[in-house]
Amino acid sequence: MVDLCIALGSNIGDRLENLKRALTKLESVAKLTAWSPVYETAPQYVTDQPAFLNMAARGETEFKPREMLDKLKAFERELGRTEGERYGPRVIDLDIVFYGQMVIHEPGLFVPHPRMAERDFVLRPLADIANDWGHPETGKSPSEMLAELGGGADIVPFPLEV
Ligand code: ADP
Ligand code: MG
Repeated sequence: MVDLCIALGSNIGDRLENLKRALTKLESVAKLTAWSPVYETAPQYVTDQPAFLNMAARGETEFKPREMLDKLKAFERELGRTEGERYGPRVIDLDIVFYGQMVIHEPGLFVPHPRMAERDFVLRPLADIANDWGHPETGKSPSEMLAELGGGADIVPFPLEV
């Protein structure tokens, strides 16, 4: 079994429902052990698009990283994601952030996710559920990486009615 973390994001349609549906699908490929609060975040890179809801999930899996990536892409399609502009609006985005302490640099698959250290919307929820995790290449924890981006204080929890 490998301990992994996945970052989830949505900024089209019923964003909360999209995250919930994605979590249900993730349960079919990993035993989820933790999930973060949901945060509402401003879009980065392409800023002229709706705000995102972001969260992170942690789980244990028997799947190999490439199998997991293929599953995540299938889940994205099943939830209605279509090809679009790079960094543009999406129904759901599912990214592998950590996979145990594996370091993978292959065509189409980089683990840990190469842009995590520049993304406060990934690091903020990750710090909630995986702050014990040292980045396998830098040794930094999510909160250490977040501090280097300014702390993520502008990332606010999305109010949930439970
Ligand atoms: P991003 O997630 O960076 O906003 P996309 O969702 O458009 O960008 O993903 C583009 C491609 O990134 C995917 O098709 C996938 O093959 C590749 N990729 C590489 N490493 C990863 C990873 N760790 N998790 C998810 N996708 C990855
Ligand atoms: Mg992605």
